[in-house]
Amino acid sequence: MVVEAPETMKVISAHDRCDRCIAKAVYMVVFNNGDLYFCAHHFREHEDSFMEVALDIFDETDEVLVNPESLE
Ligand SMILES: [Zn+2]
Repeated sequence: MVVEAPETMKVISAHDRCDRCIAKAVYMVVFNNGDLYFCAHHFREHEDSFMEVALDIFDETDEVLVNPESLE
């Protein structure tokens, strides 16, 4: 299986959405059986359990601060 590396290391793109709601994803949590995307709200809601089971956690919070979306 050949996977070409993307030109940037960005793991969360502008079209990624939270897996729990329609908000823009700002966190990607890597589990041993797949990845899940979360908005800041849902990430913080489950942050403690993610810390225990996640293999990796990426955040993209800077982008939210610079370019806020109309999140409720
Ligand atoms: Zn959410």
